[in-house]
Amino acid sequence: DRLIAASPRQQEEVIDRAIRPLQLADYIGQPVVREQMELFIQAAKGRGEALDHVLIFGPPGLGKTTLANIIANEMGVQVKSTSGPVLEKAGDLAAMLTNLEAGDVLFVDEIHRLSPVVEEILYPAMEDYQLDIMIGDGPAARSIKLDLPPFTLVGATTRAGMLTNPLRDRFGIVQRLEFYSVPDLAIIVGRSAQILGMHLDADGALEVAKRSRGTPRIANRLLRRVRDFAEVRSQGVITQSVADQALNLLNVDEQGFDHMDRRLLLAMIDKFDGGPVGIDSLAAAISEERHTIEDVLEPFLIQQGFITRTPRGRMLTRHAYQHFGLNVPGRLGD
Ligand code: ADP
Repeated sequence: DRLIAASPRQQEEVIDRAIRPLQLADYIGQPVVREQMELFIQAAKGRGEALDHVLIFGPPGLGKTTLANIIANEMGVQVKSTSGPVLEKAGDLAAMLTNLEAGDVLFVDEIHRLSPVVEEILYPAMEDYQLDIMIGDGPAARSIKLDLPPFTLVGATTRAGMLTNPLRDRFGIVQRLEFYSVPDLAIIVGRSAQILGMHLDADGALEVAKRSRGTPRIANRLLRRVRDFAEVRSQGVITQSVADQALNLLNVDEQGFDHMDRRLLLAMIDKFDGGPVGIDSLAAAISEERHTIEDVLEPFLIQQGFITRTPRGRMLTRHAYQHFGLNVPGRLGD
């Protein structure tokens, strides 16, 4: 058993599970989300009811799945997980729904990618705990109605704008996750290091935190790579200087940008004179999918003030030029 589980991929999963917080108290940062969820959960538990449906949105790696699991844990119920693209047919969702017990959490990741037929099933399920589905087709087709137990739908999406209005309106609780501050990320990697038995000092934690694009998943991933470096080069001890050297080796710069970020910024400088440039032209220029730019790359660059979105397209700010040690164009001021 042990030997089989030792493949690198499984090992990473074991580590992921070990460091994923299970309680609201261990969910670092996001103070507003935490305070609100604490209150809503306590109130629902006090009334002995299922928690209202929760929509969580935010870029990848900010803790949507983690929060969904914590909600179930704190409510003392089971969580069943699926995702928008996996639920192809109405029957796929019906199978999940009829499998729920009273109070359970149904977690639907990438909920903006539900097909319209599946979404139709979800409306009465969310509103009245009713399953209303057609089985068979042609003359033999008939509709069946079933009562479902009260449950909590937790939906996650990278962008709220992608949801249809009728779906969004059916969530009683909507939470937006923000990028994490450096001190919060330092606490997260400090906690992970402790669980994994690593020697990480406070400045080492800060260095990893600074270079994690405001994202816990990236912070934990960088921490593991820094550990590899430290084990080989510094007897496993991670100081600021060890972290800095390891991250330079990984091509993560002092702003936390990786080669993809730099490619995007440099393309905007070299090919589009700093913009404005439309998202599709930009995607073509760096051979990336448009949605990768919108969901993964640009939210952090915008939050950090390197890119702005204007009605005519994306534009660089002077920080982008300064980051590469280039002269700031006159039109951007100095
Ligand atoms: P998402 O679903 O938004 O893509 P995840 O919930 O999978 O992100 O989070 C990625 C990892 O980051 C988790 O495995 C967890 O270890 C860590 N993480 C996320 N949010 C927090 C948090 N608030 N506090 C501590 N660790 C977190």
